Amino acid sequence: MTQKWTNPETLVLHAGYRSDSATNAVAVPIYQTTSYQFRDTEHAAALFGLKEFGNIYTRIMNPTCAVLEERVAALEGGVAALAVASGQAASLFAIQNICHAGDNVVSSTDLYGGTWNLFANTLTTMGIEVRFVDPADPENFRRATDARTRCYYAETLPNPKLHVFPIREVADIGRKLGVPLIMDNTACPILCRPFDHGAAVVVYSTTKYIGGHGNSIGGLVVDGGNFDWEGNAERFPMLNKPDPSYHGAVWTEAVKPLGPIAYIIKMRVTLLRDIGAPMSPFNAFLFIQGLETLPLRMRQHCANAGQVADFLAKHPKVSKVIFPTHMSGEMRRRADTYLKGGHGALVGFELSGGREAGRRLIDSLKMFYHVANIGDARSLAIHPATTTHSQLTPDDQLATGVSDGYVRLSVGIEHIDDILADLKQALVAA
Ligand code: PLP
Repeated sequence: MTQKWTNPETLVLHAGYRSDSATNAVAVPIYQTTSYQFRDTEHAAALFGLKEFGNIYTRIMNPTCAVLEERVAALEGGVAALAVASGQAASLFAIQNICHAGDNVVSSTDLYGGTWNLFANTLTTMGIEVRFVDPADPENFRRATDARTRCYYAETLPNPKLHVFPIREVADIGRKLGVPLIMDNTACPILCRPFDHGAAVVVYSTTKYIGGHGNSIGGLVVDGGNFDWEGNAERFPMLNKPDPSYHGAVWTEAVKPLGPIAYIIKMRVTLLRDIGAPMSPFNAFLFIQGLETLPLRMRQHCANAGQVADFLAKHPKVSKVIFPTHMSGEMRRRADTYLKGGHGALVGFELSGGREAGRRLIDSLKMFYHVANIGDARSLAIHPATTTHSQLTPDDQLATGVSDGYVRLSVGIEHIDDILADLKQALVAA
């Protein structure tokens, strides 16, 4: 069914589900259950032995989550997906699935602060080294690669720098060396499909635009099915050597009859089983609701953000606007190449009055919410240096693009006149 359509507006409504097999319900039911009755002992043994696919226990799979997984996989042009409890869990799982102690990841410096912390601190305690490189020069990824490099990692539209990542350039370097590129596409669903540009894995914080209504935390890992794990067996022993945690299964072989889904199946039946960070079925239902209007919302988000950026650029108290259409040279080229139908809805700016002016502006906003989130239908604002990025050292803050006076807006879908009016009155106080 999902193969019939390619347009995102249709896929978000129809991919992966027609009606409930038990009740014919058109809305996706919330399967709020922990477990599933086995037909008999033979059936149970077949499910546990992966001889037959079916529901066992909601920590590992759930029919409501399955619709979200299939729908987003179709939207991205991937082969399968895994829903997890948060965007952070998605990033961690995407890496842990192929890396263990002694391995390394080469990551862009341009990251969300929480991901930076995960990489610089928590992964280090697990013995996984993250080598941060500046994506301004894609060759930096090649230079940092060695025999223990298991993946490259980057954000498509990295918040807060908003320098679009050179996906094709880095994916091509990686494919020659046998290293897959994992892209966090959280800030620009619909606008970019990283698999079209050579990425192997996409991760999402569904908390943001996919949910779109600021009500649930969740994440997704999407498998592009386009990376030759078997052909790079030495680099990926976790997918190509017998897995003692699953009767010695060799994932690339065990899963072959089902298609190129070894990476995502292994993640489901080992990481999700052992670490246990599944998405709740209720949250999956809310994300499915959000997804249905995502293309419409992204259009409005982007149109509003473009107007906000233009307004701020002309304002006498604003010293700099950070938004793709206000960039030039290579950064503008990357934005135009990788983002289609809009340049995203995150707008950064610096006030001539610096840190204090930034605080005054945020305290004066009346309609914008002051929250640590992006991608809500409502407009949001924050001062990253004192909040989302405050746990980073000043040097690390600057490396991720956070200066003292930087204010970040996540422009919502309210009427543009009301958005501009709120900014205008707050700028008086700034
Ligand atoms: N990736 C990006 C780009 C983010 O902005 C965020 C959260 O702000 C995350 C990942 C983490 O997502 P979550 O808060 O759902 O764990």
